[in-house]
Amino acid sequence: MKKYKDSISDYEKPIFNREWNIGFLSLVLISVFALSIWNAAMLQIELDKSTQEYLTDVTSQLSRDIRDSINNKITNLAMAADSLSQFTESRDTDDISGFLTRKSRTLEFDPMILFDRKGGFVSSHTDDGKTRSHPRDFLKLPSVQSSFRGSIQASYMGGESIFYSVPTYINGKVEGVLVGVRSKENMQSLISSKSFSGQMLSCIVDSRGQVVIAPTDLKPFLQLDDIFKNKENEEVIAGIQQMQMDMAENRDGVLKFTAVTKEKLVLSYNPLNINDWFLLTIIPADIISHGLNQYILQTFVIIAATILIFSLFLFAVFRFYNAHKRQLEQVAYIDPLTGGLNNAAFQARYRELSKDMEPCSYSIVLLNVRGFKMVNEQYGTRIGNQTLSYIYRVLKLHLREGQDEFAARGESDHFFLCLKEYRPAALRCRLNDMLHDINAFHDTDLPVLSLSFKQGACLVNDPGQEITQLQDHARIALQSCGTDIRHECAFYDESLIQRLKMEQELNALFEDSIENRHFQVYLQPKIGLKSSRLEGAEALVRWNHPEKGIIFPSDFIPLFESNGKICRLDLYVFTEVCAAIDRWRQEGLPLVPVSVNLSRQHFRDPRFLDTFAGIASGFKIPDKILEFELTESIFFDTQQIKAVKEAIQEMHRLGFLCSLDDFGSGFSSLGLLKEFDVDSLKLDRSFFLNMTGQKAKDVISCLIDLSRHLKVKTVAEGIESMEQVEFLRTMDCDMVQGYVFSAPIPVNKFEKRYLKARP
Ligand code: C2E
Ligand code: MG
Ligand code: MG
Repeated sequence: MKKYKDSISDYEKPIFNREWNIGFLSLVLISVFALSIWNAAMLQIELDKSTQEYLTDVTSQLSRDIRDSINNKITNLAMAADSLSQFTESRDTDDISGFLTRKSRTLEFDPMILFDRKGGFVSSHTDDGKTRSHPRDFLKLPSVQSSFRGSIQASYMGGESIFYSVPTYINGKVEGVLVGVRSKENMQSLISSKSFSGQMLSCIVDSRGQVVIAPTDLKPFLQLDDIFKNKENEEVIAGIQQMQMDMAENRDGVLKFTAVTKEKLVLSYNPLNINDWFLLTIIPADIISHGLNQYILQTFVIIAATILIFSLFLFAVFRFYNAHKRQLEQVAYIDPLTGGLNNAAFQARYRELSKDMEPCSYSIVLLNVRGFKMVNEQYGTRIGNQTLSYIYRVLKLHLREGQDEFAARGESDHFFLCLKEYRPAALRCRLNDMLHDINAFHDTDLPVLSLSFKQGACLVNDPGQEITQLQDHARIALQSCGTDIRHECAFYDESLIQRLKMEQELNALFEDSIENRHFQVYLQPKIGLKSSRLEGAEALVRWNHPEKGIIFPSDFIPLFESNGKICRLDLYVFTEVCAAIDRWRQEGLPLVPVSVNLSRQHFRDPRFLDTFAGIASGFKIPDKILEFELTESIFFDTQQIKAVKEAIQEMHRLGFLCSLDDFGSGFSSLGLLKEFDVDSLKLDRSFFLNMTGQKAKDVISCLIDLSRHLKVKTVAEGIESMEQVEFLRTMDCDMVQGYVFSAPIPVNKFEKRYLKARP
């Protein structure tokens, strides 16, 4: 079973969907976050690219500087060698040594040595006049030997010093080799750079990776070989292979790798174009982005904080919205009087239920307390409200659990029910049970009242039909109930609409018809059974409309009863009757009592008889000529019993007679005769429809006996056969009224037939 909550969200078709909004906002927030990350990643890539480009620029410049510097040294050495050619001709060793010593200072060689072919040599001196190295060792070096063959050489020794050698010529022949040695420190200053805030480290290696000049003993150069031994990371292995290939083919390039210290480094290699030497330069990978990373991180923190604050704000807004919604819910869907559903909630719940409702399974019922105004007037609004609340409670107790039934108070004393019931008989039965329980007034301190209800129902054939329309149909059915308190639940059907239309038409015509005397009084004689003569008449109204023709009381009396117009009509008929009697009196015709029907609606005004008495005295109608017929239903209205009793006394005081009409048509009780001081009893025609059985005859006989005993005259209504007349005569019934003698006829006809024709 579907469980319903008394919550706005259960009824509401939201203009905007909360879940969707939360989803949408979350998506926006996630997108903003993802975009920020992507942006940062792109920034990182761009920075890496810039770092590499910058590194390439810087290292190629540096390698050019180094190459130029080495070439300069070679040129300087070659120029010194050229100058030495003259000395070597004179062979003055001291001169040569002095020359070399001077030159070694200006050209920053330490030392400078001149070798001759025979293995002899002259070296520069240090400041204290000593020779620093062991020159004979140099003689065996391949580069020196190569210079004896005429080539200019630059080579290295043990990664510590650079060794330059150029040939010296005499008469165009190589006579010796001039060697210049650059110390480790000298070379280190050559490759040390102030770029990248001093974080850049360079060294010169040959194409096999052997260090020619290492500028420092610091990391990461100590692990330089490790780079080439790294076998773990495939990407690095591929990079290293590429590097080895590039170096073998004298190309420059860049390699990214992670040092053993986990530091990310960028290594650039540039050929020096001197021997197979390369300049290797290493910088930390984040050298450019390092400062920026911090800003990126800060940006992330700011974005995350913004998102968090925004989310908290949204959360607060939703909480506020929910709290506000609950308040609205109270206002919009809860009836403050009963604490239950109101009409809006009823409609919303029906719409929800109708989504999976089977056709022809439910009905919408409307209940309206008759004369609830009287409860308010008699007991006050507080008790009135408590009574409504009590009614709602009892109705709710009758809802079947698990069947999705619900009840709501519509407006004032109207209650709507949605019941899982489709068969009219079963529905009537359930409603009777409910109303019976309401009138039991169990478990309440409220005054015990006899509440009657107008009941209208609409059987739901098509669950898709709009609930407001179904409610309207139930209302139409309810309106068709009229004023009869015994009326059971009325069901809506198309004929009701026709009837409603007709009633609206008749209502619209009423005033005009009263003014233009379209209402006519007909009289139906009451024949005395002992005298077999006219002993009275009943005035019955006919509506003879010029366009609509004759309209019968059954079509308009209940309508005018329900809207109160009947009082006006009764006064009209009463006046017409008085005028007729007045005329008979003036014409010297015999006067017989004439009864007029009096609607129960008059009893709402405690002084209503004053008006009737005023009219009657205006026509100087003698006492006991005018009679009021009260239908038996009025005697069951507990709220009016007292008023009716007093009115009957007042009628007698004013000279009117009073009869109890339609006795036996409903829940007649002999007690009525004892309670109410009526002059005659009109036995309803239903008594005589089936008189064949002895029991029926006995009942009639008993009634007539009792009436006679109480000095109440009996009139049998609706008598159509002489057989009935003869039976009633044997029963000592006083009068007979029915088609057997005459149908109701216009007053002039009545006069002619019954009054003027009398002997
Ligand atoms: P009612 O007061 O019981 O009137 C008797 C009804 O029985 C009349 O119907 C009459 O025409 C009909 N009737 C008389 N004899 C026979 C018969 O032998 N057989 C049959 N089948 N019917 C017979 P009517 O005139 O249609 O009036 C219907 C009801 O309308 C009346 O019942 C009365 O309650 C109400 N009514 C009529 N005129 C007035 C009026 O001026 N004021 C009020 N308040 N009610 C009126
Ligand atoms: Mg009557
Ligand atoms: Mg009657």
